[in-house]
Amino acid sequence: MTLYAFRSVACASCGVTLKVQTLLSHTTHGGQDLDLRPSVQITVDSTEAHECPVCHFCAPELDVDLGTVSPRLLVRDKDYQARLAHPAHPELARRLMAWAWLADACGMRAAAALSMLKAAWVCDDATQGGDMAARRMALDIRQQAAKAFEACLLAGESPYRERGLAQAVLADVLRRAQCYDEAANMAAVGLTQIGAEKEAEVVRDMLHFQWVLAHERNDGRCTIAQARAAGPGAPEREALRVQQQRERAEKRAQELHREQIRTSPLKAFRSLQSSSLGVFQSPPVARTDGANEVQRFEADMSMTTAPHQLVRILSNSIGAYGWRAAQTKSALALALMDRLPRELVSVQYRDHWLQECADCPDLVDYLRHCLRNTTVIEWNYQPGQRDGPGPHPPVYGRSR
Ligand SMILES: [Zn+2]
Repeated sequence: MTLYAFRSVACASCGVTLKVQTLLSHTTHGGQDLDLRPSVQITVDSTEAHECPVCHFCAPELDVDLGTVSPRLLVRDKDYQARLAHPAHPELARRLMAWAWLADACGMRAAAALSMLKAAWVCDDATQGGDMAARRMALDIRQQAAKAFEACLLAGESPYRERGLAQAVLADVLRRAQCYDEAANMAAVGLTQIGAEKEAEVVRDMLHFQWVLAHERNDGRCTIAQARAAGPGAPEREALRVQQQRERAEKRAQELHREQIRTSPLKAFRSLQSSSLGVFQSPPVARTDGANEVQRFEADMSMTTAPHQLVRILSNSIGAYGWRAAQTKSALALALMDRLPRELVSVQYRDHWLQECADCPDLVDYLRHCLRNTTVIEWNYQPGQRDGPGPHPPVYGRSR
C-alpha cells in the first residue's frame, strides 16, 4: 500500500508556497533489482521529483537547501531548460534529469547519479510495450547515469554506505547500457573494495554476478536474489549444507547400525543362551499368577539384548494367554534358533529348552510362525491375523 501526504513548501528558487504530495510509505514485495530498484515497483513514484509551476525548479524536495548556490540562476541555464523541455523524454524523467543537472551543478554528485538512475527506470517502464525508441532512450539515459556515477566515485563520494555497492550498481548500469567491458571492469574494481567479512557477502555476490552477466553480454534486468542464487558463494554454501546433512545422515546411520547389531537376533540368541544358565539353575517355580509371570519374564529378559518392543509384546501375551515366563523364553530361543544359520549358533542349551517346552509345543510353533521372517540382523515379529490363516496364540489355563 502506498501512503501520501500533502505538505506546504516554499520553492527554494522563487519562494512561492506550494502544496506538494509527498510519499509517506509504500510496501514492496520481493527483492530488488541489481541496481537497487524495488523489483515489483510498478512505476517510479511521481513524488521522486517535483516541479515548481512558477519557476520550473525541480527537486525531490522543492524547499531543498542548495547552500551558497542560487537556484534562481541555475534554472535559467539553457542546459537545464533543455533537459526539462526534452521532447522525447517522459515528464517524470525530464524532472529527474533536470534535478540531476542541478544537483551536479551544486556538487551533490551522489544525488545527481541516483536521480539519473531513476530517470532510466522511468524510461524502462516506457519500453514495456516493446517500443524501440523508448529502449534507445533508456539506453542513452543509462549511459548518462553511468557517467554521473563515475563522476561521483571519482570525487570520492558514494551514494551508498556499504563498500563496493556503488561499484556494483554502476556495473549494472554499465551492463544494461551495453557497456559490457566497462561493466566487468567495474565489477572487478568493486571486488577490490570489499573485505572478507560476512556483511559484504551480498555485495560480493552482486559483483560476481555482474562479472558473469557482463561476460555473457547480457543486458537484461536481474535481481539480487538471482545474484545470491548464482553467486560463487551459493554453491559453496549449498555444498556445505549438503555435506553437513550427509554427515548427519551418516552419523545417524552408524548409530542405527550399532543399535541394530546390539539388539540383533543373533546377539539376542547368544544372550538368551548366557542367561539360560541362571534360569536352569534356579529352582522350579510353583504355580504363579499372570502378573508374577510377566514380572519374572521381564526381569529375565532384561539380562538379554532382545529388543524392548519384542519383550513387551511377549509380556502382553503372557498376561493375556497364561503363558509361563520360563517356557516363553525357551520357546523364543528355539524359534530364534531356527532362523539363524547353523554355523552361527550353539545348540548347547537346545535340549534344555525342548525339555522346558515339552508340554507347550504349540507355543514354540506359534513363536516360530511369528518370527518366520527374522534374519541374523533383523527382527521380524509377525503374529497371524486374528481369525486369519496361520496358528493362533495358544491359551493355557492358569492352573496348568
Ligand atoms: Zn519556484
